[in-house]
Amino acid sequence: MKAQILKHIAPIDKMPLEMVEMPTPQPKPGEILVKVAACGICHTELDEIEGRLQPKLPVILGHEIVGRVEKLGAGATRFNIGDRVGIAWIHSACGKCRFCQSGRENLCPEFQGTGCQADGGYAQYTVVPEDFAYPVPARFTDSQAAPLLCAGAIGYRALRLTSLEDGQVLGLFGFGASAHIVIQVAKYKYPSGRVFVFTRPGQKEHQELAKKLGADWTGATGETPPASLDCAIDFTPVWGPIVAALRALENGGRLVINAIRKEEIDKDSLLELDYSGHLWYEKEIKSVANITRQDAREFLPLAAEIPIIPEVQEFKLEEANEALILLKKGKIQGAAVLRID
Ligand SMILES: [Zn+2]
Ligand SMILES: [Zn+2]
Repeated sequence: MKAQILKHIAPIDKMPLEMVEMPTPQPKPGEILVKVAACGICHTELDEIEGRLQPKLPVILGHEIVGRVEKLGAGATRFNIGDRVGIAWIHSACGKCRFCQSGRENLCPEFQGTGCQADGGYAQYTVVPEDFAYPVPARFTDSQAAPLLCAGAIGYRALRLTSLEDGQVLGLFGFGASAHIVIQVAKYKYPSGRVFVFTRPGQKEHQELAKKLGADWTGATGETPPASLDCAIDFTPVWGPIVAALRALENGGRLVINAIRKEEIDKDSLLELDYSGHLWYEKEIKSVANITRQDAREFLPLAAEIPIIPEVQEFKLEEANEALILLKKGKIQGAAVLRID
């Protein structure tokens, strides 16, 4: 099969992904072989390529995979040959530890990330345990479904972790790929609630899009919104919004931080953190890590029902380096997706 592989950590401008011909993987017992049709491109791949996240090497990147079942490993019964499936960031977990046994497999010490500890979808074929593949609703094309498997599913998890109830106020800090999906889910599931969106000052386009998608108020991070926030989600890679969000929280409110990494600690903004203004009155902070199968299984049909149809810009597998360079420069319209034939 053809695959783009990463052998060494390098800046993306050096175009480190290499197109190679390699043996098609074979499904082990309980696994399925999937012929990849589309694989979304995520910022996490830039982190892996440039060494901010450590993948196995060499690795086939890509964790927003849509394809069709090509072959069943021994004992695999969940799907038929030809079924369309999606594969997300969670490639596998041990199934035995106390986290796996309590529906928190995203916290499993043996958690394997697709396209990180296990090979992913920048290739013509990939293998995955059948329990970690999901039916894809017919509403979506292959390319449209791909971005839902990462930004969508993790955003859905973040929203779930806020414990938001209908009629309450939700604050979103940062308005990128994940937040623009979360606002649509929040508006659909909690129609009597209000959503306030905070962006960097002057991000007028983001604020316009937020309003178009139903935001009840938009402003710059640090501005005082028209009401206190019952819940907030921070999607940014920096520290300032955490302090701003805590200040804007209602008593007993919860802030969920949806970020794999935060940029180096910004001491100035953290020095502003004071106990009585930001934490007193039972305010809570929680981060969101990875996703569970349950998140993906619930989110895909919900996205079809709403519906959430992502804007995508397609590239060939051969163009993966170029697409990642454009992503880094912020020049992708919607989500970038590799089309693989
Ligand atoms: Zn991702
Ligand atoms: Zn486990």
